[in-house]
Amino acid sequence: MPELPEVETVVKGLNSEVAGLTIKSVPYVSAHLLKRDRALRKLEGEGFDHFSRRGKFIIGHLMSGKRVLLHLRMSGRILVEENHRRRTKHDHLVLAFEDSTRRLIFRDVRKFGIFEWVGDEQQKALDQLGPEATEITSSSLRELLRSSSRPVKALLLDQHKIAGLGNIYVDEALYRSRIHPLTSCQQITNAETGRLARAIRYILRTAISKMGTTFDSYSGVNGNPGEYASYLRVYGQEGGICPRCKTEIVKITVVGRGTHFCPECQKLKSSIV
Ligand SMILES: [Zn+2]
Repeated sequence: MPELPEVETVVKGLNSEVAGLTIKSVPYVSAHLLKRDRALRKLEGEGFDHFSRRGKFIIGHLMSGKRVLLHLRMSGRILVEENHRRRTKHDHLVLAFEDSTRRLIFRDVRKFGIFEWVGDEQQKALDQLGPEATEITSSSLRELLRSSSRPVKALLLDQHKIAGLGNIYVDEALYRSRIHPLTSCQQITNAETGRLARAIRYILRTAISKMGTTFDSYSGVNGNPGEYASYLRVYGQEGGICPRCKTEIVKITVVGRGTHFCPECQKLKSSIV
């Protein structure tokens, strides 16, 4: 599932390829997307001014002042392709532009993705997001951790608490800061909180510079894969060796999510403090 660095990469691609273009027509929109938003064909005649990101959401700002909201969820992809390419059965929206030989495609195999106008419901979803993970400070993270007795991994995945992280980058940030994913938030010390905030910012910044991680379907708008996969230390590395201490990386389930960590570097504390 695309997380903050992958979404940021898509937004950069859209700003360089599509911003400034006027939508000439909407050659195709699937019944699936129309069920959520019947007015999608009204994109015709609108122009894209620019795109921005909030958490894992993409916001398309139109020249009319209206906005559209996109979310890639499990398998959504936004692609900019030449007009002559054939539509695939997983394409849900195709936008053709004036004065351009290319078009915008929203492709989504598993159909959990979002492409719709911003109305009250969508604005509410944006308003409920926590602070951006790229900007999390030690003090703001400390406030979040104090307010919860959940496992730290559950808190970091909660978009209402901190926006943009998903399974990959949470596992990597906890490994870098040497915190066991099941540690209760309230047991995390000030020193660990500082390490965790720094790890989150560092890992996201590095992953953005490598255009994200391609594990399955994700790519940038031109179809190029992200290059961060070779930097992963624990995610997807079960059975491999911890680069720090040579212990075997293990995989467990935390809040229903596959969770990777080093049992030597990331020790679980006793529940009695
Ligand atoms: Zn280790």
